[in-house]
Amino acid sequence: MNLKGKVVVITGSSSGIGKTTAIRFAKEGCKIVVNYKNNILGGEETVKEINKLGREVLLVQADVSKPAEVIKLFKKVEKKFGTLHILINNAAIPNDKVPYLEASYEDIIDLVNTDLIGPMMCSKEAIKFMQKQGFGKIINTSSIRGAEHGGRSVVYAASKAGVNSFSKTLAKMVSPNIQVNAVAPGFVKTRNYDKLTKEQLDSFIEQTYLKRWVTEDEVADAFIFLAKNDAMTGQVIYVDAGFTLK
Ligand code: NAD
Repeated sequence: MNLKGKVVVITGSSSGIGKTTAIRFAKEGCKIVVNYKNNILGGEETVKEINKLGREVLLVQADVSKPAEVIKLFKKVEKKFGTLHILINNAAIPNDKVPYLEASYEDIIDLVNTDLIGPMMCSKEAIKFMQKQGFGKIINTSSIRGAEHGGRSVVYAASKAGVNSFSKTLAKMVSPNIQVNAVAPGFVKTRNYDKLTKEQLDSFIEQTYLKRWVTEDEVADAFIFLAKNDAMTGQVIYVDAGFTLK
């Protein structure tokens, strides 16, 4: 797909990988929908960067774990741009806030609703536009934690494994005109690592074959590759510095 002029929705693009990815798609000539839940300042910063590139941009507050807000998000996209071509489901709670054995039902539901049901509900809305125009791409954000070994975040890992399965099965359902894939990042030093000690940070890198962090731009590279490539569907691409190598 030629990315010039395409409308891209990136959920959770007020920080981290989502923010960098939004700016990178703008550099490719896309029109961008920036979504945030609470961090309006972060959302505005992303918009500012996109404005500097001279691209059209829409900022929408919406909590992807709430179905009514998902519908509101896509209604705003329709009003501004009339359609959308690429959906990047990036928003997520990045790990179990409360260890599984102590977690309440609400803790678990909150994470699953955000990390798994959110992408499902956003994809449903996006597919309506894509089916009408006869093409489109959905790219989900998985994680190395969605692979066989999930670390200590039991609910997060199960949700990301669900994202992998969702991506593959949905890819079959919406073929041949719509492609669905996932990008599974390894350790990317976003704000979620800010409170960790040097020893903890080093221990992550030790687990990779390349002995390094993955950058936000390297994850964005994979999103852009999958958006351009028309021959791939149902794939999970690991951008993980070799973490998942056995
Ligand atoms: P981040 O916290 O900066 O990004 C997550 C974004 O999602 C934030 O902007 C947050 O506000 C938003 N968000 C959370 N709940 C939301 C909701 N209900 N509705 C709308 N937005 C919501 O962290 P990040 O590291 O950039 O994470 C981005 C994605 O990458 C996530 O899907 C995460 O699981 C995945 N990931 C990150 C790493 C890593 O090491 N950083 C590794 C593997 C996967």
